[in-house]
Amino acid sequence: MKKPALERAIAAALSLRFAPADADVRRTIGGIIVETCTGDKQLEIATRVISREMSEWPGPAEFRRMIGAAVKAAFQLPAGCPRCLGVDFVIVEKDGSSMGQRCSCKRGQVLALMDAKRRTGTASGKDCSTAS
Ligand SMILES: [Zn+2]
Repeated sequence: MKKPALERAIAAALSLRFAPADADVRRTIGGIIVETCTGDKQLEIATRVISREMSEWPGPAEFRRMIGAAVKAAFQLPAGCPRCLGVDFVIVEKDGSSMGQRCSCKRGQVLALMDAKRRTGTASGKDCSTAS
């Protein structure tokens, strides 16, 4: 994740009407954006959502929801199958206890891949952690 893309997203958020002037809240905005976006592509999506769909600061919860939804939609995840629809997990029995894991359907596979990338910090996630 290159800094200019992140700065553009934060600048877009701060330019909203009623955007908080408080330094702590500004840091929170940056934190939400970093948490929600794992690469420049997502940051661009976030910046676009902020500048096109928000006319004023929607509050942190709604801000997070809107960006998260847009980033998720941009990834165009396949629809879940009846087993995992709505929760993105299936419950499996293993050694006598239940645990949740990604489904074996197309959506589950994509989600598992994203999980793996997040864990190992490869691909787009790497850009984020190496940002300086
Ligand atoms: Zn499924």
